[in-house]
Amino acid sequence: MNQPNPDAPPASPVIPVQLSLEDKFQFRCHKGIACFNKCCENIDILLTPYDILRLKKHFGLTAREFIDQYTVDFAMDGQGLPGLKLRTRPGSTACINLTPEGCGVYADRPAACRYYALGLVSMRRAASPVDEDSYFVVREDHCLGHDEPVTQTVGQYRAEQGVDEYDEATREWRRIILKKRSSGPTVGKPSERSLELFFLASYDIDGFRDFVASAGFAEVFDIPAAEKQALLADDLKLLQFGFRLLKQVLFGEMSIAIKKDARDKRMARLRERLAANPVDKATEIANAQDKLYDSLDE
Ligand code: SF4
Ligand code: SF4
Repeated sequence: MNQPNPDAPPASPVIPVQLSLEDKFQFRCHKGIACFNKCCENIDILLTPYDILRLKKHFGLTAREFIDQYTVDFAMDGQGLPGLKLRTRPGSTACINLTPEGCGVYADRPAACRYYALGLVSMRRAASPVDEDSYFVVREDHCLGHDEPVTQTVGQYRAEQGVDEYDEATREWRRIILKKRSSGPTVGKPSERSLELFFLASYDIDGFRDFVASAGFAEVFDIPAAEKQALLADDLKLLQFGFRLLKQVLFGEMSIAIKKDARDKRMARLRERLAANPVDKATEIANAQDKLYDSLDE
């Protein structure tokens, strides 16, 4: 008889079958189920920018206050791309939002909680302008929802859980992370400043609003007054603008006009710096990433 190998990795709870929106799966979660709250007692939930926007409004906090009280930070990749996870209760693995009655932030719960027990994979084929999404079922031992006699399509489940607006709001952000991961060291190590900008634009929407409204920002970026006012008045628009700015700073995908004199000054300074300090290619690229931010320091 074969003995179990104690060093073997734990079996994955992911059922390796790709599902489309029309495919059906069996699952139902409800308050009367014996495992109620089990899934929230041992969490590892990555927060997206839109999760933070919804939750900080839920609690009536600024983004910074919410981040300090309800999240823990971690690195999303080997280069220190900042990520945030939902905090657990002190001395426990249970979610900070868990109450005996269930989720204490149900109407504004994060996308990861809405998706469960589904997972999402987004891919873009070469030369295709659109992402292709597919889904898979995550089946963990503690979850009895898989034994409930209810089937629905993936599309029905997504609609019931309200994930569409979450996915739409963070689609560009997920693309940035994927591109960052897949390009790896080839685009150079990101500078401290570009990582700070990633944090600000992704998570601290109130700090990012102050940044966009600042005189230093106006010296560099050429945004019509009415457009800027609309951005500053709407968190969701501001979030999408932040993703454009990140793509510009991290990957050189220019979509926000830069004032000509700002560019000339910046390029002259960059040339001076390169002439004074011969640098390798990666550092040169990192310096170039700094260029937009450098101009704001003047
Ligand atoms: S936010 Fe709500 S649903 Fe998500 S883990 Fe916490 S208690 Fe559970
Ligand atoms: S059925 Fe699954 S998702 Fe629902 S409460 Fe139980 S463990 Fe959580």
